[in-house]
Amino acid sequence: MIDTHAHLLSFKDVDEIIRSMEDDELEYIVNIGTTVKDSKKGIRLAENYERVYTTVGIYPEFSLNVKEEDLKVIEELAKHEKVVAIGEIGLDYHRPEHDKKSQRELFIRQLEIADRLGLPFCIHCRNAADDVYEILLENKHLINHGGLMHCYSEGKEYVQKFLSLGLHISFSGAITFKKNDRSFLKDIPLDKILVETDAPYLSPEPFRGKENRPERVRVTAKKIADELEIDYREFEKQVSKNAKEFYFKIKNI
Ligand SMILES: [Zn+2]
Repeated sequence: MIDTHAHLLSFKDVDEIIRSMEDDELEYIVNIGTTVKDSKKGIRLAENYERVYTTVGIYPEFSLNVKEEDLKVIEELAKHEKVVAIGEIGLDYHRPEHDKKSQRELFIRQLEIADRLGLPFCIHCRNAADDVYEILLENKHLINHGGLMHCYSEGKEYVQKFLSLGLHISFSGAITFKKNDRSFLKDIPLDKILVETDAPYLSPEPFRGKENRPERVRVTAKKIADELEIDYREFEKQVSKNAKEFYFKIKNI
């Protein structure tokens, strides 16, 4: 199994998490960048651990502090052999003071980087589904190497729209929460589904509220497989295959 989205640098003891990967039957972890600084640290981590890959990118909420130079650095870092995508990028409107204009600009600039380098991208979208969709539609020419909706939580209403753009849909522990609708999972082609933890955040039920760990990607996958009424092992095989196809720079060890 692969955890396709984790913030490993947020753990006190990253080494412990990585050492336990084998016991947890985790094949790979994709660490996620959110700033220039942690993108650099993510690369160092990936250099140290064979089974860790990373993304580089600037999170939407930091848009007002981004300098031109930062984007150049992200583009250079993204050429590293262990960088598998640009991310997480996108829009986050959950606080009223967020500056939408700078977020949109930063989002598009990073879509351009992904396209220039032939990399897929990972989208963070919070309270901004209409704008994310509109920007992607207007910039469809930049979606040639894959993209995914990380921690998908826009429900049934938007799923076909994002699928129509050719995107993958990735689910975190949030999909296991009792109040959340899971009925639309059946409408997503199996080869478009990815599963992630977003660890240390968003622990799936029954661990909700506790610090999340990469191995809990299985708890979420199990819940989805149950909802789809398919054999868990088959589902695991399918989503691992999907993850390797999406993050195509991952090399089989
Ligand atoms: Zn994340």
